[in-house]
Amino acid sequence: MVEIKTSGELDAMRAAGRVVGRALAAMKAAVAPGVRLTELNEIAVTILAESKATSAFLHYKPDFAPTPFPAVICASVNDVIVHGIPDRYRVRDGDLLTIDFGAYLDGWAGDAAFSTVVGSGGDQRLIDVASEAMEAALKVAVPGNRLGDIEHAIGKVGRAAGYGIPDGFGGHGIGRHMHEPPFVRNEGRPGRGLVLRPGLTLALEPMFLSGGSDRYHTAGDGWALRSSDGTRAVHIEHTVAITDDGPRILTLP
Ligand code: MG
Repeated sequence: MVEIKTSGELDAMRAAGRVVGRALAAMKAAVAPGVRLTELNEIAVTILAESKATSAFLHYKPDFAPTPFPAVICASVNDVIVHGIPDRYRVRDGDLLTIDFGAYLDGWAGDAAFSTVVGSGGDQRLIDVASEAMEAALKVAVPGNRLGDIEHAIGKVGRAAGYGIPDGFGGHGIGRHMHEPPFVRNEGRPGRGLVLRPGLTLALEPMFLSGGSDRYHTAGDGWALRSSDGTRAVHIEHTVAITDDGPRILTLP
């Protein structure tokens, strides 16, 4: 069931989202060649503790996963699209890194992600296109439009750039739980689906595959999703509320 939040509940979700945004900003600032993925995870652990928030990812176990998630961030490098488990890998100059982070504060969830180039990486266009897709989604994330308008806006930007879109993963409703209905595809038909109402909260998460193929597979750890052609993937995410005043991004710092 799709839950509609009151304005007071949106303010509570903003507080949770601010923790997420602050942690992501701190991790982004720490990204540099030689930094271990586990060190970025520790930054998020510290901010959770300081904020009296809890991880939405640690021990999370969806049906597709063989084991509970062992960290508070997902760290996805190069051809890993999403759900990378942070290990002791040191990021290198030229890597494309995506960090995804979710938290609960006072019973409300926030979920967001950024992609960035490490050092002098050449993937800025991929990130720019994902940002453009997010902007296009936000433009149509207004009351009276439909979920398909958001999905179409994201997919149109990705396809125009020649990128692949992994079907089966995308955005989602969010509130008391990190993952709630509805599922938000990254490609869809305008004018179709759920009508957007004030108080609807969605995690929007464009993800594109730079090789142009839509194909992906699960890595041996049962979590990481990799592009099947080995080309790089981008993924960005914000938790967003539909309001009468336009979309309210809840996961800014
Ligand atoms: Mg999400």
